[in-house]
Amino acid sequence: MTEIGITYYAPGLPAHGNQAEAAFIDGKLFIDGIAIDVPITDIGVTLGGFNHNQVFLFWHKEEGRFAISPVDADALSRLRELAPEPLAGLLKSAVKDSARKQRRSRFGLSVLGLFLLLPLLLLAVLFWQSHEVAGWAAGHISIENEQKLGEIAFKQATAGMKLRQGGIDASAIQEIGTRLTKGSKYSYHWYVAEDPSINAFAVPGGYVVVNTGLIQAADSAEEVAGVLAHEVQHVELRHTLKNILHSLGLRAAFSLALGDIGGSALGDFAANLAELKFSRDLESEADRQGLSALKHSGIAPQGMVSFFDKLRKQEGATPPALLSTHPASAERMQILQSMVNEQGNWQSKPLPYDWVVIKASAR
Ligand SMILES: [Zn+2]
Repeated sequence: MTEIGITYYAPGLPAHGNQAEAAFIDGKLFIDGIAIDVPITDIGVTLGGFNHNQVFLFWHKEEGRFAISPVDADALSRLRELAPEPLAGLLKSAVKDSARKQRRSRFGLSVLGLFLLLPLLLLAVLFWQSHEVAGWAAGHISIENEQKLGEIAFKQATAGMKLRQGGIDASAIQEIGTRLTKGSKYSYHWYVAEDPSINAFAVPGGYVVVNTGLIQAADSAEEVAGVLAHEVQHVELRHTLKNILHSLGLRAAFSLALGDIGGSALGDFAANLAELKFSRDLESEADRQGLSALKHSGIAPQGMVSFFDKLRKQEGATPPALLSTHPASAERMQILQSMVNEQGNWQSKPLPYDWVVIKASAR
């Protein structure tokens, strides 16, 4: 038996990887029977995963980073047994390193726990389910570290997407977005993704992605402005950051809060930010703050209401992706409309875009 069960990570594959079989034949690494065209000396070994003790073999090609990780302890020992040098040597020291890290962190945590952290950890565990600790950790991460974390999350979330910043549609998105985030402590990056599904999402630190499908589905710049105004609030209010911290787990959240922003703390972060759902309260908060951002920018609010309402009423078998994360229930629409009424009529000028022309460029 020379095949080794592995998880395979590669550009274009899902972030959580695919199950595959690895083998070494004539000093070459084969995955599912196909040799990778990278010399064995170019393969590196690193530790990752939530506990920093998962072994990864990785290499780089023009398309990006590739990695494999043994599925279990048995696969790891076969990997060590069968790998040729110098890979075998690298694996040996990585495994040693992992054991040492485990011992050190267990020791460190128990000592700290006794003297300092025990009450805090107990509280943390108690409240973990209710996102309290994630919220606490989010409040302790500097903007600078949040932007670094955001950059890593953005790269992972958009691997395989066709992004661009050029074109009149992308310029319009950037101009409207910049207007909506004037005075923000984040510096935003605006992207258009060549994707016909109706969706948009935001990544911590200020990365916003709008699909061409959403631009196509909108009938005015005000409708897109409504979606952008809402999405940026998930950044401004650190909703996405809290969600990421929550999914990374207690240890990573603590180490990030304490300033360790190294990739190791993140591990192979697998959340799909484009499909991230928030609670109804957070959505409502983003709606309210989003309307307020529209008001401050002198943009008419009705686009925000009409766009979601239109998607809701759209006939067809599959609902737009944006609705799966942002349910446009009759109730939400009613609340949104009453928020608009509450904030009163504000002075607004139509946004200076010919949306028919912009739509054509998003095709
Ligand atoms: Zn939202």
